[in-house]
This record gives sequence, C-alpha cells and structure tokens, in this order.
Amino acid sequence: MHPELSVVIPMYDEEQVLPLLVERLRPVLDGVDASYEVVAVDDGSRDQTPVLLQRFRREWPELRVLRLRANAGHQAAISAGLSAARGDWVVTLDADLQDPPEVIAEMMAAARTGGVDVVYGIRTDRRTDSVFKRVSAKGFYAGMRAAGATDLPTNAGDFRLMSRATVDAVNALPEHHRVLRLVIPSLGFPSASVGYRREARAAGGSKYPIGKMIRLSVDSLTGFSLAPLRLATWFGLGGFLAAVGLLLYALVAKLTNITVAGWTSTVVIVASVGAVQLLCLGILGEYVGRIYSTLQRRPTYYVAYDSLSAAEEPAQPA
Ligand code: UDP
Ligand code: MG
Repeated sequence: MHPELSVVIPMYDEEQVLPLLVERLRPVLDGVDASYEVVAVDDGSRDQTPVLLQRFRREWPELRVLRLRANAGHQAAISAGLSAARGDWVVTLDADLQDPPEVIAEMMAAARTGGVDVVYGIRTDRRTDSVFKRVSAKGFYAGMRAAGATDLPTNAGDFRLMSRATVDAVNALPEHHRVLRLVIPSLGFPSASVGYRREARAAGGSKYPIGKMIRLSVDSLTGFSLAPLRLATWFGLGGFLAAVGLLLYALVAKLTNITVAGWTSTVVIVASVGAVQLLCLGILGEYVGRIYSTLQRRPTYYVAYDSLSAAEEPAQPA
C-alpha cells in the first residue's frame, strides 16, 4: 500500500535540528488526514544524524530513512528522495524548520480542491534571512528571469507539493545537476501557490556555504540558458569590430607617416583581449563540463541504505 503523501526532507549534519523537526512535524502530519511517509534523506551526514534517525524510527513507523553514501548536495538529495517517494503527493522541505511544516496542511488543502499538480510555497516574508541572502536571492531570480526562465515564480524555494505525475516527470529527466526550482515550473503543470513566512533556522548553522551557492547559480544558468554563450559571441563581435577600426587607423598612420608611440594601446589591447578570451573559455568550459558529466551518466548520488527495503537494521555508525 502506497501512502497518499510523501514528505521528502534532505538533511546534512542536522543533529541539532532533528529533535525539533520531529517534534513539530509529526503532529502536523498526523493531523493532515492522509496516510503518509516521511522520507528523511540523510545526505552523507558525518554527525549523529543517522543515529538519531534510527532512534526516531523506532517510535515513528512512518519515518523512512534514505541514507546516501556521500554528501551529494541539496538538489541531488532532494532528487534521491523524489525517486524513492511512493506517495500520490510529494512535498519537499528543508530540515531546519525554515519552511514551517504547518503549511503542508494548506498545500494539501489546495491540492485537494483539484485542478493543480504543483503547489508552490512562496516566501512572502524573508525578514529572518540575512541581508546577503536576500540580496543574492533577488539577483538570482532577476538574473534567471533575464536569462529566459520566465515561468520561475519569485521567492519559490524548494518547499513545494507535487502530484505523482509531476514527480514521475521529474524522475524521468536524464539531465544531471538539475536545479529543481527551475525545472519544475518548466514542465508546465497547472499550479497554485501558498504564501508563508520564512522562519529563522531552528538550530545549527547553514549547510549552504558561498561555494555551494555559486555552484547552484552556475548550474541554474548553464542548465537553463544559452545566454552566456551568446554573450561570448557578442564579445567576439565587439572585439572584431574594434580590430577592424584599429587596422584602419594603423594603415592611415602608416600611410601618413605618423609614428605612434603605441605602448599604452598595445598593453590595453593585449590585456583586454586576453581577459575576454579567458572569460569566454570559462563559459565554454562550464557547458562542456555539463555535457561531459551528462555523457558519463554517473548517478549524482549513491544510496547506502533505504530503511524501507533494508532486510535488517543497518549497523549504526559510531
Ligand atoms: N542540505 C543537504 N545537503 C547539503 C547541504 C544542505 O541535504 O549538502 C540540506 C540541509 O540539511 C537543509 C537544506 O538542505 O535541510 C537547506 O540547507 P540550509 O538550511 O543549510 O541552507 P540555507 O537555508 O542556509 O540556504
Ligand atoms: Mg535553511
């Protein structure tokens, strides 16, 4: 028997929030009036997260643990959960209680009115996020929209409810390093949204250092848009026109016997052309890397165990 609702929660080193999460999530789910499973995706945590999960599982039969062998990253961890989830509806949310579990009930209510496949959680209030987080998020949504992802709902993170059809469509995508918040709107399923107040992280620190944020932005851009490649073409065209102008100037100078000192212009030209070339090479490299990893077809995550199918309880890590 498959459950009506699957709750997918990626977590990486979340031993501090886990007890708070269970305490707050369980009453909400028990009150939703739907059979459910919680798929806790342990993204290769190195702290006590797997031990705690095993402990909670003993008294919460709906809790299912999907442990990944190594840290695969937030998006890959959600993907792992989406592949494992069995529910007619699947909701994904962060473990740190920034996405309030109570909103799941509202999302289910919206889904049950019929006619929609996706219910987005929209952050209407991000006062608890740092200034840096808010500014970078603004830049992200504006930039992605400029780059062509016009159907991206502003301030929709990865807190959303999806129908079985949507989840199957996502699981069928062969693309690597997919950014779900961009991919899902592009599938074109009818959607609704529910606003919520983004809360502060319940405990512990962010598991999203600046490096991972940059990676997510680069994956978003290269996964969704050829605009950077076109930009490279425009740089090339600009450089070409400038070169033609310089050539004419050099010819005229030669013919009229004006000797030019020329050192500054030479340095400027060599440096700027070199910089633009390197930039364009880097842009090309990002796309080539994407093609390469897609061709390799290596999974983006490896499952260590799934408590659903484990014949016996896995040995507890020390
Ligand atoms: N997360 C994960 N793998 C990672 C990084 C983060 O599964 O490599 C999880 C993390 O445990 C949390 C969610 O992704 O449940 C969002 O991360 P976090 O709250 O640290 O990000 P922030 O809210 O600071 O952007
Ligand atoms: Mg968070």
